[in-house]
Amino acid sequence: MPKAEEGALVLFSGGQDSATCLAWALDQFARVETIGFDYGQRHAVELACRSNVTRAIGEKFPAWAERLGEDHLIDLGFVAEIGDTAMTRDVEIQMGEDGLPNTFVPGRNLLFLTTAAAVAYRRGLRHIVGGMCETDYSGYPDCRDDTIKAMQVALTLGMDRRFVLHMPLMWIDKAESWALTERLGGAALVDILLEETHTCYIGDRTTRHSWGYGCGQCPACQLRASGYERYRTGEGT
Ligand code: ZN
Repeated sequence: MPKAEEGALVLFSGGQDSATCLAWALDQFARVETIGFDYGQRHAVELACRSNVTRAIGEKFPAWAERLGEDHLIDLGFVAEIGDTAMTRDVEIQMGEDGLPNTFVPGRNLLFLTTAAAVAYRRGLRHIVGGMCETDYSGYPDCRDDTIKAMQVALTLGMDRRFVLHMPLMWIDKAESWALTERLGGAALVDILLEETHTCYIGDRTTRHSWGYGCGQCPACQLRASGYERYRTGEGT
């Protein structure tokens, strides 16, 4: 039985982190809805993974399937426009080292959380679950714990509705994230995340590695590969 007879809205991109958050929410709440954002991201393939992940979870976990409700895909096409025009010199240097197109958008997660809260308000959902994490992404100020706590207060005041923001990955690293996945749904859930989630910046799904699909070279792939390796060898648990 779920711990809370309430509903939650999960920020669900189709990536590993948000799929872990989805499983965490399905374990906690009686009703779970998902929200995704289409903003012209490079890894649009990640969005295509969303339905594959939820379908696989539904097949393997019937109890969770009963709790899984509506999916909301919101078009935030203007975000790419901001990314192209609002760059600072610092950001250009930072992204240039990765050899990646420069689409960093300052405060992007604030926008996502605000949009999610607006949908949660409409759907009568109090709990919002996201995969923001300080441990692996300390460079992103809108992923930090203090930012999320401030957002919870701002959204609660600004919409005059009590919201609770849950970030189950905030203080754990990629290896511990895999361990959490295993605790929530055993090897079956680990397999679903390996096979169906997508993290690669380039959007490459031609090669299946031990840690899943990806180019194997971009920072997201390297983070996922090293995290999975540490999980597999027991270093991160
Ligand atoms: Zn990659």
